[in-house]
Amino acid sequence: MGSNRDKAESDITTQDHNPYDIVKGLLRESVTKLGLNDNIYQILKKPMRVFEVSIPVRMDNGHIENFTGYRCQHIDILGPTKGGIRFHPKVNIDEVKALSIWMSLKSAILDLPLGGGKGGVIVDPINLSERELEVLSRTYIRKITPIIGPEKDIPAPDVNTTPEMMGWMIDEFDQLRGYNIPGMLTGKPVIIGGSLGRLEATGRGVVLTIREAAKVLEMDLSKSTAVLQGFGNVGSMTAKFLDELGVKILAITDAHGGIYNEEGLNIPELLEFVKKGNYVSEYTKADSITNEDMFGLPVDILIPAAIENQITKETAPHIQAKIIAEAANGPTTPEGDQILEKKGIFVIPDILCNAGGVTVSYFEWVQNSMNYYWDEKEINQKLEEHMKFGFKSVINMRNEKDCRMRQAAYMVGINHIVKALSARGWIK
Ligand code: GLU
Repeated sequence: MGSNRDKAESDITTQDHNPYDIVKGLLRESVTKLGLNDNIYQILKKPMRVFEVSIPVRMDNGHIENFTGYRCQHIDILGPTKGGIRFHPKVNIDEVKALSIWMSLKSAILDLPLGGGKGGVIVDPINLSERELEVLSRTYIRKITPIIGPEKDIPAPDVNTTPEMMGWMIDEFDQLRGYNIPGMLTGKPVIIGGSLGRLEATGRGVVLTIREAAKVLEMDLSKSTAVLQGFGNVGSMTAKFLDELGVKILAITDAHGGIYNEEGLNIPELLEFVKKGNYVSEYTKADSITNEDMFGLPVDILIPAAIENQITKETAPHIQAKIIAEAANGPTTPEGDQILEKKGIFVIPDILCNAGGVTVSYFEWVQNSMNYYWDEKEINQKLEEHMKFGFKSVINMRNEKDCRMRQAAYMVGINHIVKALSARGWIK
């Protein structure tokens, strides 16, 4: 299988924090802080639909392995639900529920006419051959076919899933339905209806939010330093765009190890190196560094771009960065968050920071429905407008309510959803 899968961020350990409990706690706190009725919390806390499927795959050795997959749809009052599919050994139903709620909030903050959805399969793709992975992808999409579609719920890539896998999935869906339905998922290869700029979108969005945060903090990015955890699609694209702005990236870690150069890593060379299927840790023109040591480096910007629960009560005390840009979903535990707050670190919360991916996915879906395609410049311009709009709404809320950025982001998202609930008669 190609280098993307080899770069799987599957081994970075998570601690035992239940993301669904975390998101429910944050929803309740934000509903209260907004002075809204508890009814709002009661509606938002439960996804509207949770689907579990079995995915039997005949493995190369002839045995059948029966994988478990999920698709969860949170709320569809603003539009069809939308969100990625994750292949990871630690996928579980509560994680998928939390991720679907985060998708609803992301879309609401960026004013996209979409609800939140998420899917996942419990699997470590590194252990599968390319054929096994294709059968898994096709069977998973067949199993969730009854509840997805361009007007219902639109999947996309997430951790360890790639445009190539989206190609297999859309092919399977089209064969079942008997005709070509390009808007049934996003993040496809461009030749079959993918959007220009989608591959880069999440990283580009992360860097746009960092740029806005730097303005607030009056920081000169061309004189700043950064470190990154994770070098999959999001991490690598974030590194590329930060490097273009002149930010020196001193260290990068992934599931297999980390590298450090106090003068700054050569990012274009590293991107080429990893594209060839190498791990970051195999790059020899740098010293090696552990994840823990990377967190404690005296830099301006720290970017967790892997999975949940990385900034914890253990790692947060060592962090010296001025900005944390949450490129991953749910990288900070509530205890970690408290420590960051006490330290006065400016956090760009995940549901704002990494929303560039779903934004360009939305553009992809719009282009599919028109069957007319924009050039990359237009896509990037529209992405920038949405990211700036989201950032401004969150910072204004933070200033108005005198709260931390994460809570402000939740409040902006909830307020937006509440307007739709009210328009539909759920709130009098
Ligand atoms: N998986 C990405 C996310 O967590 C993108 C979802 C999408 O493009 O629909 O935001």
